[in-house]
Amino acid sequence: MIDLRSDTVTRPVAAMKQAMMDAEVGDDVMGEDPTVRHLESMVADLLGKEGAVFACSGTQSNQMGLRAHCVPGDELLINATGHIGIFECGGPAALSGITVRQIEAPKGMLSVADLEDKPRVDDQHYCRTRLVCLENTTNIAGGFVYSLGQLQDVSGWAWSQGLKMHLDGARFFNATVAGGYTPAELAACFDTISICFSKGLGCPMGSILAGSQEEVRLARRARKMFGGAMRQSGMMAAAAVYALENHVDRMQQDHDNAQRLATLLAQIDGVAADPAATESNLVFFEIDPELGTAVQLSAALRERGVLIGPMGGQKLRAATHLDVAESDISVVAEAVADCVTSGFAEQALVGSGPYSK
Ligand SMILES: *Cc1c(COP(=O)(O)O)cnc(C)c1O
Repeated sequence: MIDLRSDTVTRPVAAMKQAMMDAEVGDDVMGEDPTVRHLESMVADLLGKEGAVFACSGTQSNQMGLRAHCVPGDELLINATGHIGIFECGGPAALSGITVRQIEAPKGMLSVADLEDKPRVDDQHYCRTRLVCLENTTNIAGGFVYSLGQLQDVSGWAWSQGLKMHLDGARFFNATVAGGYTPAELAACFDTISICFSKGLGCPMGSILAGSQEEVRLARRARKMFGGAMRQSGMMAAAAVYALENHVDRMQQDHDNAQRLATLLAQIDGVAADPAATESNLVFFEIDPELGTAVQLSAALRERGVLIGPMGGQKLRAATHLDVAESDISVVAEAVADCVTSGFAEQALVGSGPYSK
């Protein structure tokens, strides 16, 4: 199977497993795991922040960040397609009493123009607008990459309004590699930053939140409350250290593969894909409704050894990553072309449920 459903499906390479086996560990809740400490200071240094705290998942590190900035009754502003507002099961409200204000914006990228009329005035009727959350790269909005200038504009404005800035950097290094800026340049536009280790970086689990000493202190407390304080987590931190040392620069290969896939898909009749709008490792494409639905195409691709997730309606998303080889790309495009020419919608009906013949 060639699995393009997500960059979360990567499995640890042998050298990463060895680094995990060799990790020096201790009880991290007691502050005694040297490998976790090393990872946290490594990320803080790389991002130019005062500190960082290792977490179980990207969802958890985002929620820890929100908690560090907000009190119940506060409001955050986010792009309407943002993970924090859609895919974290109401965490801001459930865990921190935060109201989420989702803002429609082209490409899921917020600009000052989208934001400037949003902060509430200081009046007893209103919640306090406290935080702006951006995603870089964007996820379901299209895998887009902010330029440094765009980010500096937003953060300059937000800070002038007394707002805080949080980056959902699940794909932080896809952004730095594709955007051509350094981790510290990107991080300088935010108060707190979350980064996933379990996506393109190829770790089995883990995430980290970076910020000021005070924000990290509050986030560490939130992590404990959210059930994410771990003990001998140095084994997992060792995977993250390995990934930071070995798996960042190679992301360019994932972006090249995505570009090539978008180019090949765009050549298939009945498939709409746009290489120019493919900026990182996520390839979004649509299937002509005359041919069938995204769910049907996904099922037909599975029969051909290719896993690609349907996004509802006509849209699918293919994520390239560490476990997808350059040579897989033409195989994937050929599978899509074969589905289209062989009438995949009819095939998908066979055995699809109680009403099939
Ligand atoms: C994957 C992802 C996360 C974290 O999700 P987990 O399921 O907790 O790993 C957060 N934000 C974005 C944009 C993501 O793509």
